[in-house]
Amino acid sequence: MDEATAVNASRLAEQALMAMQARGIPPTPENFAVWYLHQSGGNPALGRAIAAFDKSPEGFTAERSAELNRAYCRTIDHSRHIQQVSERFNGLVEEVTAKLGIATSQTRDYSERLSSLGSGISSVIDPSQLVTLVRELENQTELMRQRASKLEVELEQNNREINDLKDDLANARRAASTDPLTGLGNRKLFDDVFADEAETALASGTPLSLLVTDIDHFKLFNDTHGHQIGDAVLKLVAERLKRSVKGRDTVARYGGEEFVVVLPQTDEAAAVRLAEQLRAEIAKSRLVVRNRGQDLGKVTISIGVAELERGEDPESCFKRADDALYGAKQAGRNRVMSAGSMGAGSMVQSLPAETAPARVRETAAESAAV
Ligand code: GH3
Ligand code: MG
Ligand code: MG
Repeated sequence: MDEATAVNASRLAEQALMAMQARGIPPTPENFAVWYLHQSGGNPALGRAIAAFDKSPEGFTAERSAELNRAYCRTIDHSRHIQQVSERFNGLVEEVTAKLGIATSQTRDYSERLSSLGSGISSVIDPSQLVTLVRELENQTELMRQRASKLEVELEQNNREINDLKDDLANARRAASTDPLTGLGNRKLFDDVFADEAETALASGTPLSLLVTDIDHFKLFNDTHGHQIGDAVLKLVAERLKRSVKGRDTVARYGGEEFVVVLPQTDEAAAVRLAEQLRAEIAKSRLVVRNRGQDLGKVTISIGVAELERGEDPESCFKRADDALYGAKQAGRNRVMSAGSMGAGSMVQSLPAETAPARVRETAAESAAV
């Protein structure tokens, strides 16, 4: 870490502690991870969740703090694990290199010994000396054979360990980019996929669009029905989104109750149509708890849409989709708004078309399992 990075890290750490102190949040490592991430400005969704808690009369309860850590700081353990595996990899590479170095010098010694024995043979006339020389040759060869087979066993062992580590690393990488609750890709995966797709779109001149989706009034839903049911609904929404896209499209959980959908080869108009389908699909059914039959009412989502512009970086496109999402929230929620339509002054891109009559339980009601 260079000096400027270290100074910046200390400043962020100090700000994180002050922010926690101001809210009476105990400075545990879990809470600190949340507030350090927040101070670094790396997660707008976390910023909004904090702003919402700040506004609420209960403020930051221990449960809410734990929730923030769970929703936004999960990948930290994975990166530590990946680092440990990489360190073991480096250790193994050093071990194998050292062994090969020893084997090379032993082979050199052996061949020097052979040539000196060889020159001895050419000058030997006495048969008993010849026998001694041949014995010595046999001994040297046997010694070399033993060393080679010991090395083979050791390298095989190293090879097995390297293969185990490779699997371990692949699993850790997968886990680091997967959201454990929904099984979707997480924000890290989204960042990688969106950056790659932006590069491809730019190079090939094909369109690329992004949907940023947020469940409406989800805090109220959690407060009313409890966290466990909230989690089940997150899984259900994730499944629905996943089911409704195909091919190269990527759905990821950006954080909390926000999902993103990356749509290669899709322009804004087509992305708005898909967003509208997703919104309508989620809004159409009432949710019931499977084994209790308890009616949870409806859950709706709002969606912001943006198409990557020529030469635009992915962060800027995300920001425009996110702004459109907030436009959709302000316009009343349960709707889709596109970045293009916001610029044109027409705020509402699409309104909920078919809202099922309130209090009517649909026969095809979906179930949120608890
Ligand atoms: P809005 O319509 O403006 O988006 O309102 P909202 O209540 O959905 O948004 P807000 O940002 O105020 O609150 C988000 C809530 O999402 C806070 C938290 O209760 C809930 N949430 C975030 N992550 C999780 C999670 O992993 N599980 C559960 N059950 N709830 C979560
Ligand atoms: Mg949100
Ligand atoms: Mg929300």
